[in-house]
Amino acid sequence: MRDQFGRKIEYMRISLTDRCNLRCIYCMPEEETEQIDTENVLEYDEIIRVCKIAAKLGISKIKLTGGEPLVRKDIEVLIKRLKNLEGIKQVTLTTNGVLLKEKMQQLYESGLDAVNISLDTLDRKQYAQITKRDQLSKVLEGIECAMQYTGLKVKINCVALAGCNEKQWVPIAEFAKNYPIDVRFIERMPIGTKESFNIALQEEIQKCLDSAFGCSHKEENIQRGNGPAKYWSYPNFQGKIGFISAISHKFCEDCNRIRMTSEGYIKPCLQFSEGIDLRTLLRGDVGDDKIQEALEKVIYQKPRCHIFEQEKKEGHLEKHQMSWIGG
Ligand code: SAM
Ligand code: SF4
Repeated sequence: MRDQFGRKIEYMRISLTDRCNLRCIYCMPEEETEQIDTENVLEYDEIIRVCKIAAKLGISKIKLTGGEPLVRKDIEVLIKRLKNLEGIKQVTLTTNGVLLKEKMQQLYESGLDAVNISLDTLDRKQYAQITKRDQLSKVLEGIECAMQYTGLKVKINCVALAGCNEKQWVPIAEFAKNYPIDVRFIERMPIGTKESFNIALQEEIQKCLDSAFGCSHKEENIQRGNGPAKYWSYPNFQGKIGFISAISHKFCEDCNRIRMTSEGYIKPCLQFSEGIDLRTLLRGDVGDDKIQEALEKVIYQKPRCHIFEQEKKEGHLEKHQMSWIGG
């Protein structure tokens, strides 16, 4: 369906858990300050019910996220069920990759269409500084393993952190040179933990990559995913380089998504806290028509845009961590 500004909403990010086996400095504090009680986390039957209704409203693509979605038990069972829903054309996953190798075969067999793997550095020591865990080798094994599966689209996501991982932008971009996979650089958004680095903007990253790889050209007419990434080609690269630049290149006009947290809270915009608590409806004595109405309402009322750039912010801003929202 379309929202009040005429945007077609067809993509839903579903957080399966707020738990994570890493503690990325820009996403989740070391000590778990806020944790969703397990009984409040939606069960797979409840998620399926929501998705069935959402599909009727035009949601056709689902991204499973978290926290770390692979820490949730039997995720492959959920993927298989989602893939069988009428109207759902694509089910994808975003993961930190730590558990990917051990889960990959089951994920593939369940029909997973694509996997995005988060990787901010190839330096073991720095990886442990950023994520607070020494797990780089497992992530690299996960990436290597995922690349073996024919038909599975693999992407790498790197949050660019000024004063931290600049020296790693080129080595990480080289994945797209050496393999047929896309690498996307994400501008850190001012949501989540207080501890943070300065934001590295797209221009700075591009400058760095251009001087290493030569002139790039923008791919104006290709749609490579469901999201806001804009892509560039570099000479002799097998994959593309993408940028998700919510700060320097605001993309709200083309936003096509809603989010559902693991406790069933529907968020129409990343930055604002307004949304709808579907869990109460799901667990109350209401029919699908009432849930559909609630979803229609929240989609229609999706805010026009984020206001990260405003110093004096208005509205009810999101106070939760990114790990709760699902990125
Ligand atoms: N744990 C999984 C992972 O890391 O891919 C999925 C959840 S994570 C919240 C989803 C995405 O959000 C990751 O690519 C992560 O790098 C990104 N992310 C987290 N905090 C962010 C922030 N403050 N700004 C921009 N991206 C962020
Ligand atoms: Fe965990 Fe992903 Fe957040 Fe890192 S970005 S703390 S891996 S949820």
